[in-house]
Amino acid sequence: MTGTARIVLVEDDPAVAELVTLYLRNAGFAITHAPTAAKARELFAEMHPALVILDLGLPDTDGNALFAEIRARSDTPVLALTARAEEKLAGLDAGMDDFVTKPFDPRELVARVRAVLRRAPQHLPHASAPVLERHERAGVERDGRHRARFRGAVRPLPRSSRSMRARSSSVRTMGSPYH
Ligand code: CA
Repeated sequence: MTGTARIVLVEDDPAVAELVTLYLRNAGFAITHAPTAAKARELFAEMHPALVILDLGLPDTDGNALFAEIRARSDTPVLALTARAEEKLAGLDAGMDDFVTKPFDPRELVARVRAVLRRAPQHLPHASAPVLERHERAGVERDGRHRARFRGAVRPLPRSSRSMRARSSSVRTMGSPYH
């Protein structure tokens, strides 16, 4: 299922974008590139991607601000890229699903994309009660098929709470040999 997942790559560095696109296409993903935050907003609305890879250093909008916009609208997983390692903990605390610091091995990025997608909501057999309660409080209606109606759009129920995801990501990432 993850093999055909649609991914939006937000990255202003053409060399990085080309490399990441090549590796992810070879891994079977459908990837679309946005060189600016403006283009990313457009693609996000059009494509409803399964995952967004987000460079935090963009020319037109701060990547953290773009992340906040995405998160305000959906629980779409976001994997952040940055050259500044000190941004990592803040990003994970803010609810980013994973973080890769530049320079990176593109094979590591592909592996992390797969890992994030494995944790994504459509792969969960059941949504947990606390998540449902949280979203019902936010005005979401359940339809009994692991989907919810939110602001008029039917979408899969989101996965477990962001703080839990951030914690598990932090622990896993801190234990990794990659940085
Ligand atoms: Ca950049």
